[in-house]
Amino acid sequence: MKRRSFLAGLALCPICAGTALAQDAPMGPSWGYEGAGGPEHWGSLEKAYEACAIGAQQSPVNLQGAVRAEATGPLLGWKPASFKVVNNGHTIQLDVEGDAGGVLMNGKPYALRQFHFHAPSEHAIDGQRTAMEAHFVHVGEDGKLLVIGVFLVPGEANDAFSTLMAAAPKKQGSEALKQPMDPSALLPKKRALYRYEGSLTTPPCAEVVDWNIYAAPVSVDAQDIEAFRAIFPMNARPLQAMNRRFLLQMQ
Ligand SMILES: [Zn+2]
Repeated sequence: MKRRSFLAGLALCPICAGTALAQDAPMGPSWGYEGAGGPEHWGSLEKAYEACAIGAQQSPVNLQGAVRAEATGPLLGWKPASFKVVNNGHTIQLDVEGDAGGVLMNGKPYALRQFHFHAPSEHAIDGQRTAMEAHFVHVGEDGKLLVIGVFLVPGEANDAFSTLMAAAPKKQGSEALKQPMDPSALLPKKRALYRYEGSLTTPPCAEVVDWNIYAAPVSVDAQDIEAFRAIFPMNARPLQAMNRRFLLQMQ
């Protein structure tokens, strides 16, 4: 990632190239899920990643000991849209091209920007992780994020997931989905959910996320899970301490 952003920097600012190259700074390891760039080292890879090590509201967490709340979760207003399927070196991500709608949370609008996947799931319920987890990332006008998490388990095939996995680039790069996709096809019918305040689960681990995770999983074709794992065998951050946070459960 570091190398990619460095190259992107060169492309954007050719005049900076000489300076950057002259410094000949040793490049540290890029972040990943094992070895020198693994999760236990994220906080020291870059000053900007410090929250990964010292944050007290980090994600993912074990969903356990929830407090029942008489409240409603995000009100969904997604719509079918065009997507670009991106292999960014860390996951397969679907970038919204245009307008895919969004959600309302307590009257505040958040626009759906992208969704992506982790294997195994990052969150756990009572200590149990599932095969995969989808994250639907929404951005509010103030830059705060609202992420909807969906557990994926092997079972009956999900056409939307099969379609996007068939288009997913095996190496870094992107591919336009040929048909518009309705992201709602990846949501469970039952909408009971867990809610807590947390962070991005990847560097810089910024603590700006309103997490909403559906309790019921969605089944997808086991072969599609295998196809994902053939590209990313393991891209889940370890569970983080809940510390002094409330976990809410809503029906
Ligand atoms: Zn994620």
